[in-house]
Amino acid sequence: MLTRTLLLQMAQNRGLETFARKNSLAARIARRFIAGETLEEIVEPVRALNQAGMTATLDYLGESITSTKEVEQVVTTYFNLMSLIRRERLKASISLKLTSLGLDIDPDLAQRNLETLVEAALPDLFIRIDMEGSAYTQKTLDIFYTTFKKRPEYQNHLGVVIQAYLYRSEADIEELIRLKARVRLCKGAYKEPPSIAFQKPDDIRANYLKLMQRLLLEGNYPALATHDLQLINAAKLFVKEHNISKDRFEFQMLYGVRRPLQLQIAKEGYNIRIYTPFGDHWYPYTMRRLAERPANLWFALQSFLRK
Ligand SMILES: Cc1cc2nc3c(=O)[nH]c(=O)nc-3n(C[C@H](O)[C@H](O)[C@H](O)COP(=O)(O)OP(=O)(O)OC[C@H]3O[C@@H](n4cnc5c(N)ncnc54)[C@H](O)[C@@H]3O)c2cc1C
Repeated sequence: MLTRTLLLQMAQNRGLETFARKNSLAARIARRFIAGETLEEIVEPVRALNQAGMTATLDYLGESITSTKEVEQVVTTYFNLMSLIRRERLKASISLKLTSLGLDIDPDLAQRNLETLVEAALPDLFIRIDMEGSAYTQKTLDIFYTTFKKRPEYQNHLGVVIQAYLYRSEADIEELIRLKARVRLCKGAYKEPPSIAFQKPDDIRANYLKLMQRLLLEGNYPALATHDLQLINAAKLFVKEHNISKDRFEFQMLYGVRRPLQLQIAKEGYNIRIYTPFGDHWYPYTMRRLAERPANLWFALQSFLRK
């Protein structure tokens, strides 16, 4: 628990990020979780996922951006990414963070950028807004709702993420179900206080289970993002018992995490999408992945020392 907290604090440290980006061991550890640093580098890994029966959701790494120039560069990269997906006929959607579209500079800027991107995603692509730390939950949902309600066509081209560790999520899920919005359900990757979030793994899992069942029964093509076998097995059982067909939801997992399980789920005929990040701003993302399983860090260090 202490290691998790420490790694999550380190994820937000700019000085450590500068150090890590110049360090070859850190870059090597990150490489397990990212598909490449450039757009060109991601084509082969995504094709490999597609050939193994899985789809991808591509995330251009970058968050907490505070310069408008950098925001413009992120938006351009997402336009280029959409062209690449279409040109290469990749089975892939898009994930993005509103702080990479300018949320910290001006919420209206992030909203306008999102809307431009969703317009460009019509008629064939889908954009999911990732959920960041709790300081952004309401702001993210506000921007999601504003954009989502602008055109009925957006219903199947724009989705959002809900974190099961937050107490508020049950009410958020009900509103999203009412609007027929597409939701990705995850446990939540940030350090949140007991005043707003469940802390014990069993409590988080129990809330995930409850929200997952609501989404499977009433949601619009929910995405169940977890590597937790108990939850995955519970989802399989629940859809069987309730005659929910396999094309009404999808599993989602992270690039580089529990690959044999990913392949097994694809083989069983379920839809499964792999969250596939790329870009050189890999530090905070990688630190959150290490925090989820600090053993990854020790494995990486051991293999480095052996070499
Ligand atoms: C597709 C996808 C999108 C996500 N989007 C968001 C988001 O927008 N916002 C957000 O806050 N969080 C997001 N997350 C992260 C999520 O909130 C959790 O932090 C993460 O998925 C770990 O939780 P878990 O459900 O896999 O369960 P856990 O109980 O953490 O893990 C279950 C098992 O999976 C394995 N495992 C889990 N993580 C790792 C890892 N990093 N390395 C190796 N093994 C691991 C472990 O063996 C563990 O026993 C996303 C996760 C996924 C899969």
